[in-house]
Amino acid sequence: MGCETHALTPVRLSMVIGFKVMHTCDTIIATTRSNMPKITKERKDATKPTVIKASATKVCTICSDKKPTALQRCTTCKTSITCFKCVKGWIVGDGGIIDSTGKFVYSCPTCRAHLNISATMLQDSDVKTQLYKCFLQEVKNYKVDNARNMLSHNPWLATEQTSNNSPMCVAANNMHIPMLQLLSEYGATMFDKLEIGCMPPHATGRQLQP
Ligand SMILES: [Zn+2]
Ligand SMILES: [Zn+2]
Repeated sequence: MGCETHALTPVRLSMVIGFKVMHTCDTIIATTRSNMPKITKERKDATKPTVIKASATKVCTICSDKKPTALQRCTTCKTSITCFKCVKGWIVGDGGIIDSTGKFVYSCPTCRAHLNISATMLQDSDVKTQLYKCFLQEVKNYKVDNARNMLSHNPWLATEQTSNNSPMCVAANNMHIPMLQLLSEYGATMFDKLEIGCMPPHATGRQLQP
């Protein structure tokens, strides 16, 4: 008999929670219910996931990798254990979100609590690209306050650019002075030239004339 709540077979379930004590399924359901995350103010604030050492008894709930290099456990529901590879995939997918303070966090795949993204993970190029995309969206949509909040956590976003775009270009194309001012406060200038040779006022696909 499996566990309906967890959609896990007893064997898989015992592997997931095997790092502590071998529970019966009923015990787990009782424990999980009492630990059910409550919608509180604290829950909205990002918490630091517990990083635990991997061993044969700890299995990633997403990929079922039995020998992951390292695992993270959600501190709210305490049941969601994920390996770093899957956490990255989750963040780069739709799991990475901007919280109310402008911080880039991810929601627990199981209970949706907001969890901090580690400094190491934030250095990953795919994760950075995802964060940059979120930032550019706020610039594009004239959301100065949101952009300011995001910059307070990740100032590098203001001067980041791809070969054919930059926040300054987007703000200049919008002719949005408050956004241009904000970006310049963080070191971006109207003279940041893109790889394609454009500068912000000319970035709508038109190259500067020689
Ligand atoms: Zn995994
Ligand atoms: Zn959780």
